[in-house]
Amino acid sequence: MLHYQPKHDLLSNKTLLVTGAGDGIGREAALTYARYGATLILLGRTLHKLEKVSQEIEALTGKTSEIYEIDLLTATSEQCQKIADSIAQKHHYLDGVLHNAGLLGVVAPITEQPVDLWQDVMQVNVNATFILTQALLPLLLKAPHSSLVFTSSSVGKKGRANWGAYAVSKFATEGLMQVLAQEYQNSNLRVNCINPGGTRTNMRASAFPQEEPMKLKTPADIMPIYLFVMSDDSIRKTGISFDAQPDRKAGAAE
Ligand code: NDP
Repeated sequence: MLHYQPKHDLLSNKTLLVTGAGDGIGREAALTYARYGATLILLGRTLHKLEKVSQEIEALTGKTSEIYEIDLLTATSEQCQKIADSIAQKHHYLDGVLHNAGLLGVVAPITEQPVDLWQDVMQVNVNATFILTQALLPLLLKAPHSSLVFTSSSVGKKGRANWGAYAVSKFATEGLMQVLAQEYQNSNLRVNCINPGGTRTNMRASAFPQEEPMKLKTPADIMPIYLFVMSDDSIRKTGISFDAQPDRKAGAAE
């Protein structure tokens, strides 16, 4: 998939929402989607980062993006519904949602996972993702074809010592994807996961402080699969957990 050759106007006329769009993989996905013609809705918790991405998109494409500042740790159904209502005032529908925002928590054995941090990780990675999905589903279902994408991890498919809440939250993410994919299997909506694989971001550096970042792919390197899942090229794909780096061995770069 790293060799996917997208057409330059792959995403023109599409409106896409990206969570955690201010940094790391989400930032790169937003910029990439914009470069391929999409209109972007940027959602995240740090306004100045989202504004910076929006400015970069405008410089690249001349198009303005919408920004929604929300902390997924405390997000309620009501707040998510307000966002959906506000989007509905400007757009007939959403062509795609990339749930990318995520919290690592602490890399430590289960006995040393602080209970409050465990709950925070589940809140951001699972519960808020569910709540936001519930609010956005009607907009996705109005599109001729739409793509709902969750972000998984290698430790969300095979458990690994010390990955605690993060691993469990990513297993739950895979589960949410599978349940939704079946619920909407005869509809216009497809539902999939992407596992980015080790990628050079702040989260990765805090998970693997000893690792040499230059040995990792950058967010830009893994964009082909992010483009594919949002484009009409993936219309018939649903219920799949895609690996952005299928040949990479999980764990620290060697
Ligand atoms: P980063 O930490 O670089 O970026 C995470 C993004 O999520 C940031 O924009 C951050 O916002 C946002 N975010 C975190 N908490 C919240 C919150 N409470 N409310 C709203 N937004 C929030 O991580 P990556 O880019 O590396 O990770 C992106 C996704 O990819 C995650 O789901 C991660 O689990 C997954 N992943 C990453 C891998 C990697 O090697 N990098 C490997 C496997 C999976 P802010 O900038 O304001 O902090």
